[in-house]
Amino acid sequence: MEFPNDPPYNKETLPFGDGFIASMCLCGTLCRLVKSLVLGDDYGKRLWMCNNYQYDPPSQGLYFPDGRPRSPPPLCEFIEYVDTEQTPEDIAHVYRVAQRARRHWFDMEAEERREEERRKMRQEEEERRRKYEAERK
Ligand SMILES: [Zn+2]
Repeated sequence: MEFPNDPPYNKETLPFGDGFIASMCLCGTLCRLVKSLVLGDDYGKRLWMCNNYQYDPPSQGLYFPDGRPRSPPPLCEFIEYVDTEQTPEDIAHVYRVAQRARRHWFDMEAEERREEERRKMRQEEEERRRKYEAERK
């Protein structure tokens, strides 16, 4: 199995424990253990990620507020998956979320159809009433 050399965009940093010792990246920085929260085939997989990872955090911005560029941080691209397989719980979780989203979507669609029908009925009712009134005159 091949992984793109990109960390998941949605992830959480895990505390060390469970006998894990932070591994040292080749660039000399400690790695952190993160867990992918991207719903899909990687959800729940854990991976090592260099603390200097070049795109993380992207929120810092490349420029100071006055427009001067920030000095670039040391770049590194090291990530390494610890888990190659999803646990059954993670697979089940992704499935459940997908199901829920699908159901929600269907519900919304059905509700829109019902609303449209109600609107049509009101309109027809209104037209019948107008016609009736016009004929009475
Ligand atoms: Zn590194």
